[in-house]
Amino acid sequence: MERSLAELESIVRSWVCHVCVERNAAGDCGLEQPSDCSLFQLFPHVAEAIQSVKSDDIQDYIEAIRRDVCTFCVDRAFDGSCQKRQQVRCALDAYMLLVVDAIEEATGKTLERRRLGSERNAGSQERPESAVIL
Ligand code: SF4
Ligand code: SF4
Repeated sequence: MERSLAELESIVRSWVCHVCVERNAAGDCGLEQPSDCSLFQLFPHVAEAIQSVKSDDIQDYIEAIRRDVCTFCVDRAFDGSCQKRQQVRCALDAYMLLVVDAIEEATGKTLERRRLGSERNAGSQERPESAVIL
């Protein structure tokens, strides 16, 4: 199913912001600068990277995001590391399974959740409890 970038972003916002630990009591993004959210700042790259993968293995998505999204991110260090990721302050990394699931479902692909669940922690840092939805 074809979806515009704006549609995909709207769907991902409704899935992820709803559970994000940065969301405030009013239901808005609580970041000092909401536009600093890496997930949406880099959303065109995120959507492209996820849609380029045809796999039920979350590791393939993680690799695509590291390669096609993190490369463009100002928070990535020269050696490829990322303090924001290590400190679980990157919404893209913290909610990666949710982001992948939202985009794949919106475009008509249903991932094998059992497989994803078994690899939940592959490649990512410890996540906030609310990030675990599978
Ligand atoms: S940090 Fe990002 S994912 Fe979290 S509420 Fe703000 S815009 Fe949404
Ligand atoms: S993990 Fe780090 S480098 Fe990658 S998008 Fe998030 S903040 Fe940027």
